[in-house]
Amino acid sequence: MTLYDTIIRNAEVLTETGLITTDVAILDGKIAALLPSGAGAASAIIDGVGQTLLPGVIDIHFHIRAPAYPDRGTVESETKAAAAGGITTLFEMPISKPCCNSAERVEMRKAHFAEHARINFGIFGAPGNLTAEAVGAMADAGAIAFKIFTTEAPAGRDDEFFGLSFPDEADQMQALKAVASTGLPIVVHAESAQLLAVSEAAALKLDLANADTHLAARPAVCEAVAVAKLLAMNMEAGAKLHIAHVTSALTVDVLRHFRGTSDFSAETCPHYLFRTHDDVRKAGVFAKINPPVRTQRDQDALWSAIADDTITHVTTDHAAFSHAEKMAGANNFLQAPPGTPGSEVLLPAMLDAVSGGRISLDKAMALLSANAAHRFGLPAKGRIAVGADADIVLVDLTATTEISPQTLHTFARDVAQLYHGARFTGRVQRTIVGGRTVYDDEIVGAAGDGRFAAPTHPIRPDARMSA
Ligand SMILES: [Zn+2]
Repeated sequence: MTLYDTIIRNAEVLTETGLITTDVAILDGKIAALLPSGAGAASAIIDGVGQTLLPGVIDIHFHIRAPAYPDRGTVESETKAAAAGGITTLFEMPISKPCCNSAERVEMRKAHFAEHARINFGIFGAPGNLTAEAVGAMADAGAIAFKIFTTEAPAGRDDEFFGLSFPDEADQMQALKAVASTGLPIVVHAESAQLLAVSEAAALKLDLANADTHLAARPAVCEAVAVAKLLAMNMEAGAKLHIAHVTSALTVDVLRHFRGTSDFSAETCPHYLFRTHDDVRKAGVFAKINPPVRTQRDQDALWSAIADDTITHVTTDHAAFSHAEKMAGANNFLQAPPGTPGSEVLLPAMLDAVSGGRISLDKAMALLSANAAHRFGLPAKGRIAVGADADIVLVDLTATTEISPQTLHTFARDVAQLYHGARFTGRVQRTIVGGRTVYDDEIVGAAGDGRFAAPTHPIRPDARMSA
């Protein structure tokens, strides 16, 4: 008889055919068998009674920026925080100092993350000089996907955004085509640089300490116009296009209008689904995020976009800044750095939406895990099935998660004001990565427990040669 490494007994397990009570056996980092209650033998037994076993979250939008900016958190601190949030794989965005815009830098970040990560990691590339050769080399190095911004690089941060920011439409088109040649997805932070310039100039005359000024500086039309143009371009470019952090009813309308015209997908984030501009007013610049958290009407539109699969991914956009950096912009919404930590909020918040009857557990985990595995070429992840990676999370659907500086693990626990005091029904009990427990109501495991996640898209050599 097989001696398994671990068996999780008597949990309710979310499988591809729904929620069933079964024992789950793990061997060599994989799910080896689904067993009747009490069957099989293992070196370690985990009692799952009263708990629910889910596929681990695949967070496709994460900013650690390491090895740069250790004062904002490190791979170790932020992957601990991710583990505590039930995230088993994160995709690190290319913003770093310098920007991750070449095969060499993809390799450097892979090595850095391999040494320090507690969970699995994919590495985004920035398409750099926009040639098929450059993006092909990054794809060969194992980049999970590519990212571009349609906005200008923020003032003074050119090296972090070099080969990443493309406000010019001709460059955006070239980026779509170059990345299409690799078969990998291209993720876009979409806001019109030209419309932003006008509204930001007008906002300079307003009260800079007032949160309303941030909304005035980045109106929804900036996002909607950039998305519409990209979707029109993609009808020609044929990329696997993914729109990052959709925030508005207007953009949801645009996405619906273009449905079926090319291969595109879209995401939103917990701050847009669970918070509104009223909360930003209370939290101040700590809740400054680009694009901004908007109105209740926008939030309602995002939930309706989830309901009809216009939006198929929910991600953290975890972006920690130090308390000092946020405070330096305390009275200036235009200058304060944008971003909030969300890795310990995402799953509890979505489980809360499940317990409140807003969405099914199935749907929540498709948004957080299964759809990401499918879209980004990780067929062994995002599901609990024999042969899949044992990247899984045990949750208590009835227990409460309290968010406060005392409960958070992220280095940015003091800048999570948007969520301080929040209580969600649904709690992460244990996070297992590749068969190893990395969180068990407290951080366990070791730096280096995470594995590099390389995608398995078929590279399209014919497309690549003609690009
Ligand atoms: Zn981001």
